[in-house]
Amino acid sequence: MGTTSDLSQVEEIIRDHGVNELARVDPADVVTAEWVRMKCRFGCGAYGMCLTCPPHSPTPRQTRRLLDDYTVGYLMWWGSEHPGRKEVVEIEREVFLAGHHKALLLACGPCGLCDPCPLDFPCRHPYAARPAMEACGIDVFETAHRAGFPLEVVTCHEDVPNYYSLLLVE
Ligand code: SF4
Repeated sequence: MGTTSDLSQVEEIIRDHGVNELARVDPADVVTAEWVRMKCRFGCGAYGMCLTCPPHSPTPRQTRRLLDDYTVGYLMWWGSEHPGRKEVVEIEREVFLAGHHKALLLACGPCGLCDPCPLDFPCRHPYAARPAMEACGIDVFETAHRAGFPLEVVTCHEDVPNYYSLLLVE
């Protein structure tokens, strides 16, 4: 695990990007579940539509193993403003350049950097394309609640959404 000062620097980098709030979480408390993948496959119009979404993204089981490779996670609560892909992945880049070679960011929502995604390799923006937490089988609801953050089902246009990203670091 990074030293306290290392992690203070990571937190500073994240806050500089305008996050609403962040929580340091144990990756063991990031919940993965098979039902998340099923909700992508049956009921999401973005299924199979970009290289960062299922079936191209990691399965819940692969993500569980990935989480086990880390000792620290930062759950970022963006509030109702969806963070741009490039903006949020810039956090990963800056944390990486600060010496955290394992820094990896999981974003939120489909990629959207190309319209439409050409669905072939190589990805057109490999430095900015990252899968969403939910696309990797993370139960974002339970993970957010464990961190003390709000997340409820949005039922109408008047409901306020909440967006989250996860930075894994060592
Ligand atoms: S950057 Fe473009 S090619 Fe790569 S996953 Fe996103 S939409 Fe697809």
